[in-house]
Amino acid sequence: LNNPAGTAASAAAAAGVPAASSSRPRATSDYGSIRASALHQARLRIESDVDCVSYAPDVTVEGTERQRLVDNSGEWYFESQHAVSGEELLSAKFESLDYDTCENSLWAAEDQSRTVWDLRRIELCRWLVHLLIGVVTGAIAFFIDVCIEQLAKVKYRYMKSMLDRCIFHDCLIYALLLWIAFNFIFVLIASCLTVFGEPVAAGSGIPQIKCFLNGIQVPRVVRLRTLVCKVLGVLFSVVGGLAVGKEGPMIHSGSVVGAGLSQGRAASFKFDLGIFEYFRTDAEKRDFVSGGAAAGVAAAFGAPVGEGASFWNQGLTWRIFFSSMTSSFTLAFLLGFYRGIPNDLSNPGLISFGKFDKLDYDLLHLAIFACMGVVGGLSGALFNTLNEHLTKFRHRYVTSKLGQLTEAVLVASITAVTSFVLIYTVRSCQPLGSDQMEYPVQMYCPDGKFSSMAALLFQTPEAAVRSLLHDPVGTYSVTGLIAFCLPYLLIATWTYGVMVPSGLFIPSLLIGAAWGRGVGIGLNLLFPTHFTDPGKFALIGAAAQLGGIVRMTISLSVILIEATGNVLFGLPIMVVLMVAKWVGDYFGTGIYDMHIELASVPLLPWEPPSRSAAVSAQAVMSSPVTCLYRQERVSRIVEILRAEPHNGFPVVSGDLGPGTFGTFEGLVTRNQLICLLDMRLFDDGDPNFHLANPVSLSDFRRVYPRFPSVRQLQLSEADLMKSVDLGRYMNPAPYMVLHTCSLARIFRLFRGLGLRHLVVIDHRNQVVGLVTRKDLARFRATHTGDLKELQFTG
Ligand code: ATP
Repeated sequence: LNNPAGTAASAAAAAGVPAASSSRPRATSDYGSIRASALHQARLRIESDVDCVSYAPDVTVEGTERQRLVDNSGEWYFESQHAVSGEELLSAKFESLDYDTCENSLWAAEDQSRTVWDLRRIELCRWLVHLLIGVVTGAIAFFIDVCIEQLAKVKYRYMKSMLDRCIFHDCLIYALLLWIAFNFIFVLIASCLTVFGEPVAAGSGIPQIKCFLNGIQVPRVVRLRTLVCKVLGVLFSVVGGLAVGKEGPMIHSGSVVGAGLSQGRAASFKFDLGIFEYFRTDAEKRDFVSGGAAAGVAAAFGAPVGEGASFWNQGLTWRIFFSSMTSSFTLAFLLGFYRGIPNDLSNPGLISFGKFDKLDYDLLHLAIFACMGVVGGLSGALFNTLNEHLTKFRHRYVTSKLGQLTEAVLVASITAVTSFVLIYTVRSCQPLGSDQMEYPVQMYCPDGKFSSMAALLFQTPEAAVRSLLHDPVGTYSVTGLIAFCLPYLLIATWTYGVMVPSGLFIPSLLIGAAWGRGVGIGLNLLFPTHFTDPGKFALIGAAAQLGGIVRMTISLSVILIEATGNVLFGLPIMVVLMVAKWVGDYFGTGIYDMHIELASVPLLPWEPPSRSAAVSAQAVMSSPVTCLYRQERVSRIVEILRAEPHNGFPVVSGDLGPGTFGTFEGLVTRNQLICLLDMRLFDDGDPNFHLANPVSLSDFRRVYPRFPSVRQLQLSEADLMKSVDLGRYMNPAPYMVLHTCSLARIFRLFRGLGLRHLVVIDHRNQVVGLVTRKDLARFRATHTGDLKELQFTG
């Protein structure tokens, strides 16, 4: 393993900036290969690149580069290093969430003081929050659905009357211009909401939520502002005719609802109800976000399953199930009222593929379905590869806000033109009444007939999928479907990643349903008695295409079975998804993982990389470690917090000298240090100080999650001379490992327990190193199964 060596001090010297002057706890280490914070070096490099006047204690960075760093802090694609260098890099800027409980003396005191009624109240509140998450997520889904329906009605009614008139008056160009204008305006609104409102609201949000649940702090991903931009943005991008669906964004919206409601306040609006204070920790919030994501899935598909969560347990599963059911029920209830049939609760999700009367199959069908899985895997891999190249291109050249807006409206206009050209050129006509569509367009068809190509393009993509699955035999021709499928695939590939909220499920299903139906029609022509229903093949094609693109298995199986309402067809769907995943995985990762990789996020996968059992903690850890003493001077804490970007510091006792390290006592986090400095808990060694100045965990939760920065602290010279007893606030028993521990075991600890810091000790209980998520995320398996180490970018 090729570990970058050197110390933070030498990195600072190389960068020409003064390093932290605190030498006391940084004993020179001869323990294995000393990595000494490669990330720190990267950060120093960034600072030095940008004309750094002074580094510590007051960082003053001049010029626009600093502005860029600040401006981009909420964007998903922080760095576009991949695009620039083509190298695989990880971004050091994504911080971690702390999913491990800090069991310090304040926590123990709070735990002791709780009565059984307190515990019941907390549990009741937990259920209440999950109920609220379900209700609010369902209501949001209802709002989106109704708004899309109403806006789409206006758009397609005008478009239809214009088209019908222009066929006779030879003014089709005006109909085309109207179509472009509609798409342009709606998509411009969606894009403005994203570009100027909240950039992290772009896309489906699924990769970002997956990262959040994995323990990565994606800036602004669960903010109220993000929710507003996402919800309004998605309805305009769907009505704007883009090849997008509203289902993925529902999952993101549900997650934001989960994160927001559980905290009982909206930090952006400085609004605090003062309730659910107990839930103001990363671990609690994560569970509510999981509930919200599941409620979003349920509202979207009527199926309470998702594969995004990284941490799971039985109690949580039951509560999440409750949120999902509540969300489905709320949506069904509200839609029933809206449609004037209040007792009808048969609309559990935003999409329903309609009931199939007959979905029978035999072994021959299964074999054909498996072959369709191969096609789905191949075309999914093609979709992902094209999208990857486009994303790289986009992050290299489409970086300005104007550029992003222009791209969005360009895609909208081209979608309108392509749709128009397809309807104009593919002249397949069907008798009226054979399709459920609200606005059948006649185009050049004789009276009593309508254009079946218009049936696909002249309605929302969900409705088009339903048409492909259920329209009678003979509605579509193979050439028409091919003519639709290819341009739509290219447009959908281009659309995913444009700066608008957009879901990928529906366009994928639509592409798959189109070619699947084509296969069904072909088989029906060859063997009319055996393959009677092309709708069945459309369903399999849809599953294959979606599976080939997103590579989810369990949740997609359940979602598709749920959406078809036929459990007996579960096995073929599963087979197709499995084959599509295997084939697709051969060529690369699924689209969500691909976007996570492109954003250089240090995500930890489920399993440790292969051949990591022989790598020891020494090769992974940072050393020497910046430590604090139990009774520590305020000036030194401030100095370290200003000089070091780290978020965790081991607390040690004993003398430090060459070859010796402090004896491990506990771990204190940056946020804890900032809080206690802010509260001026300077005891100066007085054992009675805490009796006179009682503090509790509530004082720390009050500022969660937006802790002040060290520069915002206002400390006098006299304050700096005082000292703090860290023993009361540190975690006295965090997870730690011996320096001989293997990378594989460390990985499992992080993954299983949601750790942020892991202290490495030697057999004398002395701190010899520290491992964080980024130290682990660097290690990846190559295609041949070897271990490789990625570099970090600032
Ligand atoms: P996170 O960013 O995940 O919230 P963090 O900021 O504490 O955690 P990282 O940014 O992951 O830590 O750490 C960057 C590098 O610095 C890693 O290689 C890590 O091992 C090292 N590091 C972290 N804390 C310390 C420390 N107290 N002393 C020395 N090196 C550290």
